[in-house]
Amino acid sequence: MGGCIFCKIAAGEVPATVVKRADGIMAFKDLNPQAPTHLLVIPTDHLASLNDAKDPQLLGRLLAFARDLARDTGIAERGYRVVVNTNPDGGQTVFHLHLHLLGGRPMTWPPG
Ligand code: 5GP
Ligand code: ZN
Repeated sequence: MGGCIFCKIAAGEVPATVVKRADGIMAFKDLNPQAPTHLLVIPTDHLASLNDAKDPQLLGRLLAFARDLARDTGIAERGYRVVVNTNPDGGQTVFHLHLHLLGGRPMTWPPG
């Protein structure tokens, strides 16, 4: 979608440190990491938010992709967090669906 920064990353038009790419899903490092491991998992086709994701199979694949990345990056055993900020109250700032994969330090609860 024109103007969407994550669409541009998916298209290779904006640089990012891409970690993994497969079957319409990709992961890259967050520009402003909030934990030692902070990756973003996105569908390469534009979807604005979780509210717009009508395909449960895609959602399952995104979650499995994040889970596999946690294993591959060595944070699975100690633990990690997967977050999907949705719309303004959820803290979403980039309106292309993404899962945050955070790990490498203990997380606190409740989130801010
Ligand atoms: P949100 O607040 O929408 O849940 O998360 C958006 C995330 O995207 C933020 O953590 C922010 O640091 C990250 N981000 C924003 N712009 C870019 C960019 O151009 N490249 C990368 N790699 N991450 C970005
Ligand atoms: Zn997009």
